[in-house]
Amino acid sequence: MNINQLDMNFDSVIIGAGISGLVAAHRLKRLGREVLLIESGDRVGGAICSRDTEGFLIECGPNSVRGSHEFLDLVEDLNLTDELITGDPRAPAYVYIDGKLHAVPMSPPALIKTKLISTSAKLRLLREPFVKARRERGEESIASFARRRLGDEILERLIAPFLSGVYAGDPEQLSVQACFSKLAEFESEAGSVVGGALRAAMKSRRQQDKPKRSLRPYRLCSFRHGLSALPEALARSLGGKLLTGARIIGISKNSSTSGFEIRIEHRGENRAINCSTLVVSTPAYVAAGLLDGVAPEIAALVAEIRYAPIASVPLAYRVEQVGRKLDGFGFLAPRGEGVRTLGSIWNSSLFAGRAPEGWVCLTNLIGGATDPEAVKLGDEELIRIVHNDLSRVLDVSGEPRRLPITRHERAIPQYTLGHAARVERIESELGAASGLWLAGNYLRGVSLGDCIKQAERVAVEINQAIQPTSASI
Ligand SMILES: Cc1cc2nc3c(=O)[nH]c(=O)nc-3n(C[C@H](O)[C@H](O)[C@H](O)COP(=O)(O)OP(=O)(O)OC[C@H]3O[C@@H](n4cnc5c(N)ncnc54)[C@H](O)[C@@H]3O)c2cc1C
Repeated sequence: MNINQLDMNFDSVIIGAGISGLVAAHRLKRLGREVLLIESGDRVGGAICSRDTEGFLIECGPNSVRGSHEFLDLVEDLNLTDELITGDPRAPAYVYIDGKLHAVPMSPPALIKTKLISTSAKLRLLREPFVKARRERGEESIASFARRRLGDEILERLIAPFLSGVYAGDPEQLSVQACFSKLAEFESEAGSVVGGALRAAMKSRRQQDKPKRSLRPYRLCSFRHGLSALPEALARSLGGKLLTGARIIGISKNSSTSGFEIRIEHRGENRAINCSTLVVSTPAYVAAGLLDGVAPEIAALVAEIRYAPIASVPLAYRVEQVGRKLDGFGFLAPRGEGVRTLGSIWNSSLFAGRAPEGWVCLTNLIGGATDPEAVKLGDEELIRIVHNDLSRVLDVSGEPRRLPITRHERAIPQYTLGHAARVERIESELGAASGLWLAGNYLRGVSLGDCIKQAERVAVEINQAIQPTSASI
């Protein structure tokens, strides 16, 4: 599209076409608002990027999304239901401990039987309701919270690997109030995590008359041709209201309308447009620069958020090269087990159509907050490390087939100590009074499901905040 064909005035301009910006723009458009979504790259989806290469379908970013009702509503709304594929809900995730893979226990009987943690760790868990609640105010690290309430072993063997998988994070640095606010609330309100969880489960059972459409037990989902189907469908739903390859030259407050003026450069042409509300849905470090002139306090808070790097190293093997049956979602490896790879997702076991007949495809993640130097290694070295780890954990033999490696220098925002308080301060400055909203994975949840939920909420708030459309007067 040529920017000179663009209208001058929009109800809302959204900057950044990752899942957060796309969902906010899509929902606002569905609500009858005039929107424009501006993306600096030449494609939409941000971290989501599926690639078809030599008969393998690989994901360079996220691999799957949980089947929450917000996600399923969106899939239906976009007419993507026929494209949706789901993983086997019984497929276990494994943790590599003491030279063996152990399935993560997903039920109380499985927890009693598991060899992942010792009998004394299980007994320690039973004592959790009797551990005194913390009196101090302020945020606490996940490591400190878990040690206090659940014991060292649960921290090292269950919680730390889970945090590597979701945040690529360090439990000593991450804030329990920001990452697991429910657990912190259980302790402060019920005096115990177990007690609080039981109370919450009973409450939700009493409310089960409400229809729920989520895929129980929150199955992992993707699409036949990869996760990119979702951003691509969202982009189509916007029609011409999406500008890719555009550069924001400046943002200023429009004093006569109390909205914003956005100056854009696109294919050598410059244009200024007006909007009554603005959503910035870029990563935090970009948002900080964009907002410096119009909202310096928010910009300064957002600039404090740090990211952990990750390299995604997909490798393929012929089925007979792998000594262990790949009968699950994949494995996570706690630090200190002699394996540098953080985790391995068994794509071809999880979803159909990921590898040609006779082959398996594994996406291996390396780096994170505890090993940031790993992403700087060359391809040869990354492949060597990951292949050696897989030989040890999965008994693979022979040479791997190489697939394209992706390095995310700033992959996942880290909700470190102070993050919950920072987000509250950011949010108190945003909203109807300022005409400005933020959306993105650095606020309240890094998963795709969290991003979708937050972006939907932003769209609803904006719709309520701006004047009725002329059509609805
Ligand atoms: C390797 C990896 C694996 C992951 N695995 C999973 C998983 O399996 N399941 C899951 O639920 N989540 C996973 N996640 C997390 C999830 O993918 C992200 O949190 C989510 O996609 C972030 O979406 P976003 O829209 O907030 O940001 P982004 O995807 O970062 O989008 C931001 C957009 O803003 C654009 N932009 C940047 N600067 C500008 C500018 N100046 N002007 C205009 N546009 C700009 C960018 O190009 C981008 O398109 C993973 C993430 C990574 C990196």
